Amino acid sequence: MRSIAIVGGGQAGLPLALALLDKGYRVTVVTNRTPDQVRSGKVLSSQCMFDAALQIERDLGLDGWAAQCPPVQGIGLTVPHPEQRGAKAIDWASRLSAPAQAVDQRLKMPEWLQQVEQRGGTVRIEDAGIAELEALTDSHDLVVLAAGKGDVVKQFTRDPVRSAFDKPQRALALTYVHGLQEHADYSRVAFNLIPGVGEYFVFPALTLSGPCHIMVFEGVPGGPMDCWRDITTPQQHLAQSLSILETFLPWEAERARRVELTDANGILAGSFAPTIRRPVLRLPSGRRVLGLGDAVAVNDPITGQGSNNATKACKIYLDAILARGEAEFSEDWMTQTFETFWQYARHVVSWTNTLLLPPPPHILNLLGAAGQCAPLARAIADGFDHPPSYFPWWTDPAACEQFIARKMAEPQHADNASTLTV
Ligand SMILES: Cc1cc2nc3c(=O)[nH]c(=O)nc-3n(C[C@H](O)[C@H](O)[C@H](O)COP(=O)(O)OP(=O)(O)OC[C@H]3O[C@@H](n4cnc5c(N)ncnc54)[C@H](O)[C@@H]3O)c2cc1C
Repeated sequence: MRSIAIVGGGQAGLPLALALLDKGYRVTVVTNRTPDQVRSGKVLSSQCMFDAALQIERDLGLDGWAAQCPPVQGIGLTVPHPEQRGAKAIDWASRLSAPAQAVDQRLKMPEWLQQVEQRGGTVRIEDAGIAELEALTDSHDLVVLAAGKGDVVKQFTRDPVRSAFDKPQRALALTYVHGLQEHADYSRVAFNLIPGVGEYFVFPALTLSGPCHIMVFEGVPGGPMDCWRDITTPQQHLAQSLSILETFLPWEAERARRVELTDANGILAGSFAPTIRRPVLRLPSGRRVLGLGDAVAVNDPITGQGSNNATKACKIYLDAILARGEAEFSEDWMTQTFETFWQYARHVVSWTNTLLLPPPPHILNLLGAAGQCAPLARAIADGFDHPPSYFPWWTDPAACEQFIARKMAEPQHADNASTLTV
């Protein structure tokens, strides 16, 4: 029986552990928080997952919250008018072809970690560093480091060619609330883009206390939405969240009139630099560790892709491990396994990074045109599920113009998808 150690009990590591246990592998999970600590701790993410990633969870039998979690049925985009307060320069929405869902990781991870033990795996609660990785590589055929943004992942070498930024591009904050008013027609990620200030998006989710909404704030560093440092209490955090909406997005403030925090831990503020790392860590002994998930490819959450990426990477690694049979998990195999994922993820990273920079004219044109063209709005919405579909038109102005023209020529009313309110 082959033995695999996975360091990090998160969205990337735990599905891999559970899937390998199902296939008869001996699995050790080393993670630094107990199920109770995760459950009673702060929220970790907004974790909105689109259909392809949800399908992987369904296929692995890990979709235990699908029935309780409210669906995210569409994507909306609003850009406030630069001069007229309360007016909108761009405003459209489209249904997704298949719904997304966001299940609080404080629900998922403790349950999955317990399932690892129930399925015969070993769980060790410890903060792994180099010494622990050395010991694990000595006793296992393969060690996968999926420790998210934990300090230990800095042992992987940053890839300067694939990393577009060396500092945080947004001041991030999350506010989990009950009582937010949903759109009458269909639920959605309501994405508001405030030029020069940042982004705010909000969508339905499932948390410890039931269905809720998650507010996500992405403030341009140094701007008015980079405003979380002096906040000391959950109530101040909520008040700051609502004050941003009052100032920049009155229509969102209106939906949030009656909100209250889901719980005192339903808040988060911080920042990190989007970073791609080389996937193989060579330990002092010469043995190697393979990186997975945020540990080696961490994106800004502006496009809500990290949990999706982690799940898709997990599936690619799972297939590669199974296909490897009894052969050695060599450095070449590790590199190749990550490269298979990167052929997908490079599009996610490239698309995400464009949204962190001021939009070029062709993107402004595209986002505006989607307000008059339901098939275009649908293509943009569905791209969240499969970002490679944005290429080449997202980054190539000529291809973008052609794509818009093609979508404009399609029947506009066919899928009844967009609310065209520009
Ligand atoms: C504000 C915010 C909003 C987000 N919103 C979305 C979204 O809407 N959609 C989406 O898809 N993604 C979103 N993400 C990203 C998503 O949460 C992550 O990409 C995803 O959780 C990554 O999974 P992972 O398993 O790689 O890392 P994690 O989920 O971070 O798991 C890492 C695990 O490793 C453990 N660990 C850390 N260090 C050690 C150590 N030394 N030893 C042992 N264990 C260790 C941690 O405790 C944790 O359990 C968001 C992220 C943030 C910050």
